[in-house]
Order: sequence, then structure tokens, then C-alpha cells
Amino acid sequence: MLQQTTVAAVGAYFQKFTQTWPDFAALAAADDADVMAAWAGLGYYARARNVLKCARVVVAEYEGRLPQTEAALLKLPGIGPYTAAAIAAIAFGQRAVVVDANVERVVSRLFAISAPLPQSKPLIRAAMDSITPDTQSGDFAQAMMDLGAGICSVRAPSCPACPLAFACDAMRSGNPEAYPAKTPKAAKPQRTGNAYWIERDGQLWLVRRADKGLLAGMRALPDDQWTARLDGHATPPVRANWHKLPVQVSHVFTHFSLLLDIAVTAWPAGADDPGDGIWWPLKSLDKAGLPTLFRKAIEAVLNAGERV
Ligand code: SF4
Repeated sequence: MLQQTTVAAVGAYFQKFTQTWPDFAALAAADDADVMAAWAGLGYYARARNVLKCARVVVAEYEGRLPQTEAALLKLPGIGPYTAAAIAAIAFGQRAVVVDANVERVVSRLFAISAPLPQSKPLIRAAMDSITPDTQSGDFAQAMMDLGAGICSVRAPSCPACPLAFACDAMRSGNPEAYPAKTPKAAKPQRTGNAYWIERDGQLWLVRRADKGLLAGMRALPDDQWTARLDGHATPPVRANWHKLPVQVSHVFTHFSLLLDIAVTAWPAGADDPGDGIWWPLKSLDKAGLPTLFRKAIEAVLNAGERV
């Protein structure tokens, strides 16, 4: 949950999640849709799918207990090099080289590694390996992370207060903020799309997104796969009397920004349902487990006043 997300944002989700599914066995037996709904609003939904897959592997292959070696942890869904090393070192007391963003910064500075990120990652890992002790490597890793978070900050590191100042090449260079160097980021592409509000008798038509791709498996408004051209042209999911609202929702994903137009229609009573989906009472949309993008869209429609 904490990947790319702050402790403040995660707290309540973590409490509820671990109360609902207190161990691997309980999570492994959970319904996918319930887990996705519990994650709704936290973003980066691949994490929810991975933690579920991971629980199922842990139950099927490891009798419901996490394996203790870095190599075995690395094979589990959703566990990458950082997490595997952190679990092995901190939870199981094994020697492992733990490198998160804070450690990357401290080590780049200690050794004045001038190659830019991300190309410098192998050099940083090798440098961290060279100073990681054989015992208590978990404590060492946490101390380095804390040093990065509290003293060796991105801007204005507090070198006079730093216990590693005596060994720090970047401080000696007089410009520690120059490390780590970064390759400039490319601008995020802008995509456009349409969402469709189909309403009947106090209910809204919701669909479940495909099992693969962005927001996979989440409940959502029907949309056009966000392939609309910049002029807003798009193909609605069903033939209907569409009325485009004068509102637009913007949302930023990891790899692109999205501008979403919204079209609304009143679905005739007695007509067949508009495809695969579910009629959801407007009054309890907050319980539908919708991801943030579609919550924003719904709020925009409700605030727009008269709609169908
Ligand atoms: S001396 Fe300064 S730059 Fe070097 S590790 Fe400490 S806080 Fe960071």
C-alpha cells in the first residue's frame, strides 16, 4: 500500500484491509471484487491484484507463511528487489542489500556517484552492498532510510548533523544537492476519453472493467477506452439519445494524463439492459468501490445539476 503513497493516505485503508483479511489464508480465499473494492481510492490497483495473487501463492506453495530468503521472496507476485531485500533483512534477520529512494540518495552522496539515475542503480546497489554489515543488515537499512528521510533530504541536507559526514564525498564537493543526478523526465502524454452515464429510475449503470489493463477488474462507468480523438469524437457503448455535459474531469495516471468528457442518457423503463453490468442505486454510489477517476466523474455529473 505504501508504494508511491503516503502513510497518511494509507492508514485507514491498512486498518480496514487487515481487519477484513487478517492473514494470508483469509486473503487468498477473498473474492477478487471485494479486494478491488477495498482498494478503491488508493490508486495503483496492480498492487491490489498482486497482493491477492501473492497471498494465493503463499497459501498454495508455502502453507500460508512467507518464505524467508530473498530469492524465494523475489519470485512472489508484486515483490520486487527492494521489497524482497527489506522483508528478508528486517523481518527475517538475513543479510540483504536494501535500496529504496532514500538510500539511493544517501549512497549517491556518500560515494559522489555522478552517473544519473536510473542508469546509476547498479553502482548504487554495489556501493550499498560494500557498506552493509553481515549482521543486523535490517537495522542498518532502516537507519540509512531514516537518515535519508530526516537528515540527507532532497533539498538542503543537514550535513553538520549527519553521522556520516566524515565519510561523505558529496559534502566534501561542496554541492551535495547535485547528487543523485537525474535524467530529465519526458512530459506525460495527454489522452482524452468519454465516460457514459446511463440512468434509469434512480439507478446508474455500472460495468466491470476488463481483467487486464488499467483499473483492471474495477467497477466503473462505461467508457470508450479513452481512445477519443482530441476533438472529443468517440463511440458510445450503446445506441441512445446522448447528451454531452459541459463538464470535463482530469486525472493523472503514472504514464499519462487523461481528460474525460461525460455523456448522459435516460434509459427507457422496460428496455433491455444496456449490456453486461449492474444497475446501482444513485443513493449508495459511495459503496460501489469505484476508482478515483470515476468518483470524480460521478461528482462532476451530480454537481452539474439537471442531467437526463
Ligand atoms: S554529509 Fe550531508 S550529503 Fe553526506 S550523507 Fe550526510 S547529510 Fe547527506
